[in-house]
Amino acid sequence: MNTPELLILAVGLTVAFVVLIEYVASLIENDKESKTMSRIQVELQEHMGSDASIANAAWTSTYDKSRREDKYDDPEKVADIVRRCVRDGHSVPLESVIFRFWIRMPIFTDRQHMTHRIASHNGLSGRYRTLPSDFFTFPADVEEIMNKTDGWGAASAGSFVALCQSAYDYYRQGLDLLRKAEAEGKVTNSEFKRAREILRAVLPTASMVERTTIMNLVSFANYQRLRNSDHAQPEIRRVAELMLHEVVYAGIAETAIAELFQRGWRIG
Ligand SMILES: Cc1cc2nc3c(=O)[nH]c(=O)nc-3n(C[C@H](O)[C@H](O)[C@H](O)COP(=O)(O)OP(=O)(O)OC[C@H]3O[C@@H](n4cnc5c(N)ncnc54)[C@H](O)[C@@H]3O)c2cc1C
Repeated sequence: MNTPELLILAVGLTVAFVVLIEYVASLIENDKESKTMSRIQVELQEHMGSDASIANAAWTSTYDKSRREDKYDDPEKVADIVRRCVRDGHSVPLESVIFRFWIRMPIFTDRQHMTHRIASHNGLSGRYRTLPSDFFTFPADVEEIMNKTDGWGAASAGSFVALCQSAYDYYRQGLDLLRKAEAEGKVTNSEFKRAREILRAVLPTASMVERTTIMNLVSFANYQRLRNSDHAQPEIRRVAELMLHEVVYAGIAETAIAELFQRGWRIG
């Protein structure tokens, strides 16, 4: 690549990154506006890899180890190969970047989240843990929609919370009885856990749950394309937005992320 081409590349990437930074900053502004949505939280807990790791993997095919090590000092060469991997669909080197997210979201969003198979997911156990009384609140836009109906109108949000609470009360009451019976030696601990797991089935999908998800950059791009989109439900869209926010502010693989963002998260 000659000097003017490299200059265009560098300017293009800087512009793309500035656009990306502005976009993720606007997500936080939106978050402040919505108390309901702010109940959804994402934390990037760990990550591995960088633009240089992607370049390293890609250059494995063309250079031996000692020759490719010199090239890491040249950010333009690294940026160029990273962009080419995204543009040409050379996706495996992009898998050198891996994220581990902690996510707090309602169960109905978690069900959508779990359809993403190319990831590793861990979740809390209703067998080993008593679930907290913690529900996703009624979103303001849905309240407005319900207000247009002739039936429930403004009462819908209140009934929603009351139903969630009543299910939780049933669950807690069952657990209290089980605990007492266990203390009296009437049920074993394994019976207690078995029953606790089934009692939790009454809890609504508005219950908040926690999940740990590990995914590589290719899977992350797929998630962004599908979920950070007008077609996605607002709640899972919020999860995708917060994931992106975390990744951008951590400054991970900036060239790859900016290039993917610019290309609508499409690889190839
Ligand atoms: C707007 C929207 C609406 C949706 N509506 C519904 C719905 O009504 N009902 C429903 O059930 N789901 C629905 N989904 C979920 C959707 O069908 C996918 O299951 C989900 O988005 C995960 O996408 P994925 O398979 O690309 O991701 P991953 O499972 O992470 O897979 C990533 C990629 O790996 C490849 N891959 C993974 N597994 C296989 C495999 N076994 N064989 C071949 N290739 C594989 C594919 O290329 C795939 O794109 C919806 C999704 C969106 C975004």
